[in-house]
Amino acid sequence: MARYTGPVCRLCRRQGEKLMLKGERCTTRKCALERRSLPPGQHRPRRRKISDRGLQLREKQKAKHTYGVLERQFYRHFTEAERRVGITGENLLQILEMRLDNVVYRFGFADSRRQARQLVRHGHITLNGRKTDIPSCAVKVGDVIVLRERDPNTEYYKRVAEQIGDKIVPQWLSLDPDTLSGRVLASPSRSDIDLSLNEKAIVEYYSR
Ligand code: SF4
Repeated sequence: MARYTGPVCRLCRRQGEKLMLKGERCTTRKCALERRSLPPGQHRPRRRKISDRGLQLREKQKAKHTYGVLERQFYRHFTEAERRVGITGENLLQILEMRLDNVVYRFGFADSRRQARQLVRHGHITLNGRKTDIPSCAVKVGDVIVLRERDPNTEYYKRVAEQIGDKIVPQWLSLDPDTLSGRVLASPSRSDIDLSLNEKAIVEYYSR
């Protein structure tokens, strides 16, 4: 259940683009990338051309950091994607999208995938009526996910209940804002995933 615990804005600065890892803050002027768009490090970065291998590595790291997955688990998802019928890169993105923590984030129960992971870990989510505290758990078509709150008067629960009406969920999910519950309608296709990831480069990275 390991996870990255270091500074996350550093990851965006390394990639040179917003990975939206801090929820609301990412859309404000407090975003570290808006204030300082240089890569992390003490010295001025040298200008150098990035090799093809470097670009592939960068895409792989971007996907890993976006979904909050460490290397071993990411590689496990990749081998599963290879095993499945279809295009490996698209299979990989589908597996990542159908992780429970990502689905909780997509429903709008959390501002970021990191926060969604914490909600799951702390037992605030039920999957088909049962408490599930495994963020990497793969959801299936027809599954019902509910933000379970033992005390509906908590600030967090009230805020989510207030704001969720404005939330637009992807087509492959359906959300009931009144009960803070959602259902998985289908497996996401590549066009449903609004991330600028080059999945082919990730497959090439692991294929060497
Ligand atoms: Fe990235 Fe968000 Fe930090 Fe901006 S605020 S650098 S988008 S994690």
